[in-house]
Amino acid sequence: MVFQSQFTILISRDEIAKAVDRLACEIKRDYQDKQPLLISVLKGSFVFMADLIRQLDLPLDLDFIRLSSYGAARESAGKVRVVQGVKTPIKGRDVLVIEDIVDTGITVSFVLDYLKKKHPASLKLCTLTDKPSRRRVPVPIDYRGFTVPNRFIVGYGLDIDQRFRNLPDIYALED
Ligand code: 5GP
Ligand code: MG
Repeated sequence: MVFQSQFTILISRDEIAKAVDRLACEIKRDYQDKQPLLISVLKGSFVFMADLIRQLDLPLDLDFIRLSSYGAARESAGKVRVVQGVKTPIKGRDVLVIEDIVDTGITVSFVLDYLKKKHPASLKLCTLTDKPSRRRVPVPIDYRGFTVPNRFIVGYGLDIDQRFRNLPDIYALED
């Protein structure tokens, strides 16, 4: 059982809001005169996606992809499977993948490969957090909110065993 008393705050809601604003500015600048298709990787990125799109005064479309990976609960096991695929046609679209965290990189590189096969006009990645110390697969990150240390983080969409996604700040689990 994990308790909130075992968390220390890592990124406050104010810092998150500033990063979301900055990322939205970068995305608006790059997608002027376009209508991107934003694809949120469920479940972790839904809170970030919800805040980000409300800062994007661009015509845009949304979709979601849901994956599962087998193995230890706090890591991706390296074997990723699509549980719910993207329904929106991808061909010719400017696709922007929205992630909560890039850790080993296995999950998001699987998503990028899956989408690339559907022939988008362009394909980019926006992640709220990046944990580069754990990378096993190189991942091109176009928009990055925060670089985080090698600690397990929760809140703002990120869970431990499906809990704590509703916390408005991001916390690190104490070792
Ligand atoms: P990757 O495939 O890059 O190793 O891991 C991606 C997935 O592992 C994330 O989408 C997330 O579900 C989970 N994950 C990796 N690191 C963390 C972390 O520090 N906190 C939480 N809550 N999930 C993590
Ligand atoms: Mg995720």
